[in-house]
Amino acid sequence: MSKPDLLVLWDLGPHALGALEQDFTLHRHFEADDRDAFMADLPGGVRFVATGGGTGCSREIIEALPDLEIISSFGVGYDAVDVTAAREHGVRVTNTPDVLNDCVAQVTMALMLALAHRLPEADRYVREGRWETEGNFPLTDELTGKTVGIIGLGRIGKAIARLAQAFSMRVVYHGRTDQPHEPYVWYDDPKAMARDVDWLVVIAPSTDQTRGIVSKDVLDALGPEGRLVNVARGDLVDEEALIAALSSGGIAGAALDVFAQEPHVPEALRKLDNVVLLPHQGSATVKTRRAMGDLVVRNLRAHLRGDPVLTPVA
Ligand code: NDP
Repeated sequence: MSKPDLLVLWDLGPHALGALEQDFTLHRHFEADDRDAFMADLPGGVRFVATGGGTGCSREIIEALPDLEIISSFGVGYDAVDVTAAREHGVRVTNTPDVLNDCVAQVTMALMLALAHRLPEADRYVREGRWETEGNFPLTDELTGKTVGIIGLGRIGKAIARLAQAFSMRVVYHGRTDQPHEPYVWYDDPKAMARDVDWLVVIAPSTDQTRGIVSKDVLDALGPEGRLVNVARGDLVDEEALIAALSSGGIAGAALDVFAQEPHVPEALRKLDNVVLLPHQGSATVKTRRAMGDLVVRNLRAHLRGDPVLTPVA
């Protein structure tokens, strides 16, 4: 019997693609030079899509596949998948939650430590021979005793909170709802929270409600001693207001894994010393990416068997 067709929109990597080849005939959209021609040549009756990253799955693709049943997306954030179109057409969407919590939390702490202790700058100082010629590097800061405010105390936010506590930090959070069973103070207003914290960590999904949640007002409230860490999505932060605040001393620094228009990072940010920049590395370890790929595969296989999918999005 021939294997069912699977349209692959994003390069899931050799591990997941190899596993999918066992059960599906793969159509690698991401490798096509002419994607319109590729879609036109696709066999009829495609029921399965795999995707991920910033590629997601557009309404156009969903509507070009009248038999589509499932979009299995690599990553916990699924803002690039048009879930409204999927819902309208009865297409289920899955993501890869939980398996990346510890990794993203570790990267968040690594960013905080790098920014507080000025590790990238100190590393450059040694490499450039300045330790020998100019003497000791200036004194830096530390996390101990500081307060971190987390925007988005979800699966990853809670993992960050636990690690922050291990660094003797006080944790508070902002979300739409109070979580009274959690041992942290809740703020219903991000600006009020920013005023009270040393560190603001952003780890909420990108939605119509969260876009621009770290506004000029919030950055002003964070103030000249405050630092921002964004490991969520670039569009949660007003990037122009952030550059202005960093350049003028409005806030002390920022550590950013995500940007408004990836992979473009504004020149103004790249020139600043009080920032640490990563190329969207939050979940990018061999172990975690493998676990995410496995979950993409398991969701598709479950649906193929007629079983419930493991991790449907709400
Ligand atoms: P969860 O859904 O578990 O948690 C999201 C949290 O955000 C919840 O606590 C929710 O609380 C809060 N939230 C949702 N809407 C709002 C809002 N309008 N205002 C304030 N808070 C809000 O998600 P995860 O922790 O699994 O992942 C979070 C996000 O992190 C992902 O969507 C993804 O975009 C990003 N991410 C980035 C990675 C990277 O590589 N940098 C890797 C993995 C994830 P409440 O419902 O109470 O508002």
